[in-house]
Amino acid sequence: MLLGVVGDAMKTTWISDILEGKHDGQKVELKGWIKRSRGSNKIRFVVLRDSTGSIQCVAKKDAVGEECFENVKSALIESSLIIHGLANPDERADGGYEIIVQDVEIVGPVNPDTPFPITESAMVAADGGETEFLLDNRHLYLRTTRMTTMLKLRSSVFGAIHSYFRDLDFLEYQAPNFVAGAVEGGSTLFEVPYFGRKAYLTQSWQLYAEAAMPALERLYTIAPSFRAEKSRTRRHLTEFWHAEMEVAWADNNEIMSYGEGVVRKIAATLLDERSEELESLGRDLETIARYADSAYPRMRYDEAVDTLQGMGVEIEWGQDLDYSKEKVLTQDFDVPHFLTHYPKIAKPFYHRVDPDDEKYVLCHDLLAPEGYGEIIGGGERTWSEAEILARIDEEGTPREPYQFYIDTRTYGGVPHGGFGLGVDRVCSWLSGAEHIREVIPFPRDSRRVTP
Ligand code: ATP
Ligand code: MG
Repeated sequence: MLLGVVGDAMKTTWISDILEGKHDGQKVELKGWIKRSRGSNKIRFVVLRDSTGSIQCVAKKDAVGEECFENVKSALIESSLIIHGLANPDERADGGYEIIVQDVEIVGPVNPDTPFPITESAMVAADGGETEFLLDNRHLYLRTTRMTTMLKLRSSVFGAIHSYFRDLDFLEYQAPNFVAGAVEGGSTLFEVPYFGRKAYLTQSWQLYAEAAMPALERLYTIAPSFRAEKSRTRRHLTEFWHAEMEVAWADNNEIMSYGEGVVRKIAATLLDERSEELESLGRDLETIARYADSAYPRMRYDEAVDTLQGMGVEIEWGQDLDYSKEKVLTQDFDVPHFLTHYPKIAKPFYHRVDPDDEKYVLCHDLLAPEGYGEIIGGGERTWSEAEILARIDEEGTPREPYQFYIDTRTYGGVPHGGFGLGVDRVCSWLSGAEHIREVIPFPRDSRRVTP
């Protein structure tokens, strides 16, 4: 078949508009892909989908003519089509509408020798989780209802974060992705050859944001961070999207209010923009509303350790909480909780020591409920020159790669702090996904960089 001009280049009608009653009785031009197709030698029922929804299109041989009917009949799932027809309100149809087809143009036919590989049964077998097969075919899996839903939620989450910070007059600021030093410890650094030297992929925007803090005072970003996570868990990727903020003249409590603010804004935005999608994933909207409307309690690390020990979990004071412990701790939370004041020995040099008790640092993690665990890590930064030098030396970290960071203190240091929020983790928690892989289009972990 020759592919000439396929209709007007611009798309004028969206399926969601028809389902909202904007084209009742009108002649419409629909552009989309075949989701399902069935029928007889006289009548075909084609469910067409576009990015906004799906609708049943009814093609009768008498109405469309022999040749067109045969084309429709032989078109396979995921073929792309342009359909002209009448938008007909019909109570019996799914969504209350069907299209009475007048004419069909097959734009991108699917070869019968290589039909679309992702069948409903492959997805059912995967049961919400992801088999190797679905991961290998990720580029095609993206078009399925489940993945499309996740991508829409994700878009709303990104939008909510931008609006939250911009409404508060934060400035969006970008840091380099090739860096010379670690933020989160050397064991998860990705090393890259860099013209005869070694560079690393950034683990966080933070250090470079602190350098701009005296210029911008309130700044944020949403950018990828890279961590060579060897242990694969349901909440770790090697490349993840990191929403980070840094703010001058703020203490740990104020920084936590921003963390609470942005997570509540995300939950509120999802309710507003994506309640249908949330329900289709089996999420209870009241639960999401609670995350949007409640204050998030704050508890000290010591209290969490006591609680865990009381529950029979083996944990020693001074240990960072890993996923297994956070899972137990958050199982019965009904809203996210902040954990504050971790022991100094559990945290890197940039965390500010608590002037009231030098065993602790002024930091926080935000732990999501339902057994999810950490979604934010943040706190006050060590901000005086003398203290940062002492902390770097005490840790045995070389000063040289951090000289620019030390300079931020030498030339007019001020109290400041910030946090990093794992955007994919938030999507995963709020969508109720089993695994963080389910909410990012092309997940990267220690085994997979394809497709
Ligand atoms: P964890 O202990 O779970 O590995 P972390 O303490 O290393 O987390 P931070 O360095 O505080 O995490 O990073 C800030 C936020 O970035 C985390 O709260 C989390 O939401 C997100 N994050 C960190 N590492 C990953 C990862 N490998 N994949 C996805 N998100 C991550
Ligand atoms: Mg980590």
